[in-house]
Amino acid sequence: MTTCDVDVVVKFGGSAITKKDTFETLDIEGLNYAVDLIDCCHRNKLTCVIVHGAGSFGHHQAKEYKVNNGWTGMSENKIKHVKKGFYLTRQSVTKLHQTVLSALLDKDIPAVGLSACGIWKTLDGKVISHDLNPIVEIIKNGFIPLLHGDCIFDDNKGCSILSGDTIIQKMSESFNVKRIVFLTSVEGIFNKSPTECSDAVLIKHIHVDRNGLIVCDPDSEQNKNVCVKQGDEGTDNSTHRFHKGLESVTEDQKSELGSELGNEGRNDVDIETKLNDKDVTGGMLLKLQCAFDIVKINEGRTKVFVSQVGSDHSKAICLHGHCDQECNKCGTEILYSSDQMGT
Ligand SMILES: [Zn+2]
Repeated sequence: MTTCDVDVVVKFGGSAITKKDTFETLDIEGLNYAVDLIDCCHRNKLTCVIVHGAGSFGHHQAKEYKVNNGWTGMSENKIKHVKKGFYLTRQSVTKLHQTVLSALLDKDIPAVGLSACGIWKTLDGKVISHDLNPIVEIIKNGFIPLLHGDCIFDDNKGCSILSGDTIIQKMSESFNVKRIVFLTSVEGIFNKSPTECSDAVLIKHIHVDRNGLIVCDPDSEQNKNVCVKQGDEGTDNSTHRFHKGLESVTEDQKSELGSELGNEGRNDVDIETKLNDKDVTGGMLLKLQCAFDIVKINEGRTKVFVSQVGSDHSKAICLHGHCDQECNKCGTEILYSSDQMGT
C-alpha cells in the first residue's frame, strides 16, 4: 500500500498555462503565476505535487490522429497513422512538460518530472494498473513531483489518453491529500460562460453527495443556477437532488470532448479553464465529474477548489485551504454532502 501525506496538489490547467486555441503556444503570464504559487507553497514548507494539463500542446495531434480511439483491429496503414499520432502527441506534451519544468527550476524549485507512459495502463480507457511509488520516492527525498496527462498503452484499444485529472484522482485515493486546487483562467465555475454572458454567476460552493451527484440547496441562489432538475422533485423541500446535467450535453459535444487530450471517458475530461461557447452548464459539469468523484471517494476529507491562476485567492487557498470568509472571488469549492435525499 502506497501512502503519503500531501498538503496540496496543484493542477496547472491547460488553459491556465497555454493559449488553448493557438498551436503549441504558452501563456507565459499564466505559467509564471502558477510557478510563483508553487514557489510560495515551497517556501512555506508545504508538501506539493504538481500536475499539468496539455492545452495547446498535444491537443491538436491527439485530435488529428484520434489517438484516444487506439489502433486495435485497424488496417496496417491506420495502425501506423495512430501510432504516429501517439508519438507526436507525446512529443508535444513533453515539450510543454520540459518548459514547465524549466520555469520551476529557474526559480530554484526542486521539481522532478515524471511521465505516466509505460507505467500506467488502461483497459478500454479505465486504469487497470498504475504505480504511485515513484511519486512517493520523489516526495520522500524532498523534491516536488511534476506530472502530466499522457498517452499510455491500453490492453484492449492499444493506446489511450490518461488525463492529469485521473492521475490526481488516483493519488487522492491512496495518499492523504489535504487539498486539491485546479488553477483556471477564470475565477471559478460559473453557471454560464462569463465571457459570453454578462449575467454569469460565480458558483461559490457545489455540494456533491455519496453518489457523486450534485445536491442543491434550494435556499442557495447560486446553486440553483448550476443545477438541472432531475425529474419531479416531489414534495421534498429540504434538498433537491439534481442530475449532473449530462443529458444536456449533446452527442456532438461528447465526441468532441472525447477527442481531446485528457479524456478517457466522461469521468476523465480535464477540468477546463477557459470558457467558450461550448462550455454551457452541461459541458462544464461534465468536465467537473472527476473533481466530483474525488470529493465522493474521499467523503470530503480532501478539499477541492477551482480557482483563478494569478489571484491572491488561489494563493490563500493553496497555502491555507481557505481565503477570506467575506471574499466573493475565491473561486468554487466542491464540498461533500453526507445528507442523503429525504433525510
Ligand atoms: Zn478570496
